[in-house]
Amino acid sequence: MGKSKYDADIIIIGGGAAGLSLAVSLSYLVDLPRILILEVRPKYTNDRTWCFWGKQSLNRHLPISRSWSSWSFSANGKHVTHESEHWHYHHIAAEDFYHFSQSLLRLNPHCLMHMNTKVDKLEASKDGVKVITGDQHFFARQVVDTRPPELTQVTTAPLFQIFYGAEVTTSSPVFNQQIPMLMDRLNDTSLGLTFNYLLPLEENRALIELTAFSPKLFAPETLRPILTKLLRYRFSPHKDWKISREEQAVLPMGMKLSEPDKDSNIILAGMNAGALRPSSGYAFLRIQAWAKKCAEHYRKWSVIPHLDSSSPTQRTMDSLFLDVLSSNETSASNLFIDMADRVNADCFARFMSDNATPLDNLKVINAMPAAPFIKAAVSNLQSAFQRINSRDFYTNKKQF
Ligand SMILES: Cc1cc2nc3c(=O)[nH]c(=O)nc-3n(C[C@H](O)[C@H](O)[C@H](O)COP(=O)(O)OP(=O)(O)OC[C@H]3O[C@@H](n4cnc5c(N)ncnc54)[C@H](O)[C@@H]3O)c2cc1C
Repeated sequence: MGKSKYDADIIIIGGGAAGLSLAVSLSYLVDLPRILILEVRPKYTNDRTWCFWGKQSLNRHLPISRSWSSWSFSANGKHVTHESEHWHYHHIAAEDFYHFSQSLLRLNPHCLMHMNTKVDKLEASKDGVKVITGDQHFFARQVVDTRPPELTQVTTAPLFQIFYGAEVTTSSPVFNQQIPMLMDRLNDTSLGLTFNYLLPLEENRALIELTAFSPKLFAPETLRPILTKLLRYRFSPHKDWKISREEQAVLPMGMKLSEPDKDSNIILAGMNAGALRPSSGYAFLRIQAWAKKCAEHYRKWSVIPHLDSSSPTQRTMDSLFLDVLSSNETSASNLFIDMADRVNADCFARFMSDNATPLDNLKVINAMPAAPFIKAAVSNLQSAFQRINSRDFYTNKKQF
């Protein structure tokens, strides 16, 4: 790539959601940087499903395969359905996103991608960063590191969203295509708060996941036999049904983030930089916003900035919500179903998509049970004062 001492202007480590989104956003710039993406996987598979809330019109540039204007919750015999005129719950299959991004990037002669390339080590100097893989090394002005967090960092989370899912195809139509069940049969169990997630992709195809919000970390495979039993029970009357794909995750909710060094040419991104919403485990939308902001910044200043993944208000709301959820003083299943009942579809969608207005935040607070909320608010205030006193502020990051 070129004859300068740099192999690329920007090396992106990891061609997942954050890495590919950034490369795609940068590829729309008139003055294109030279980008090198290093991805450890030999090839992409349909390894996950990304869903998120958005206004239909705003998301045309993404390979969305389905959108719903309704979604439902159920717990302890109570059912709540949200219907929204303005907001949709969108679905992207990972294979479509990988294919879409790669096709766009292939058109860009300034962008190269090496698959099957594991980055082992980074060496930063004042001129740039040396990226060391098994048998090669590359030098770039800046490196964007989207590798997932190490286990030691993951375990700093107070709560884990752990799920195991299966894409089920039936020979006859059985799914109500109009309404995804986001939290079905919310239940307080020994594994934590558990619920079923059902995404009706077609009338005879759905992604069904068993999810736990657990204070203890455990392997998602633990949920597999329970899910299998549930699927057998549900689908045994339909003779022909099969599982075409499985997916699983451990999402650390509220994981501690390392403080970035603003002078470094290594930019942390993705889950490692707080893209995962602590209260929900959703990250895709934040990653899109981050990638767009990075490209805008690059257009003006020719550098990728260190950006914070959320505003102070969003962090406070997430932290309060997580504290109330993690407290043993309330039934988590009641907390979610009451909240779903008390806020309307638009308020819920705005809250989940980082678009909450001050009134939305008040409505969410109002929907939380009073005693654990007050306790969480006091504890949040105490930590804020401690941070001010110890001057432990991220003053060097800009917010996106
Ligand atoms: C199964 C699943 C379902 C999810 N569903 C949703 C959802 O519906 N909505 C939502 O908002 N969020 C969802 N998430 C959470 C979040 O959006 C995803 O985890 C998202 O992929 C995070 O993006 P990322 O770029 O940080 O990480 P990744 O997409 O995991 O990308 C990291 C990349 O780095 C590569 N890599 C790792 N180590 C190295 C190395 N040493 N050298 C080179 N490359 C390396 C990996 O192979 C990977 O491609 C889901 C997560 C999972 C796991």
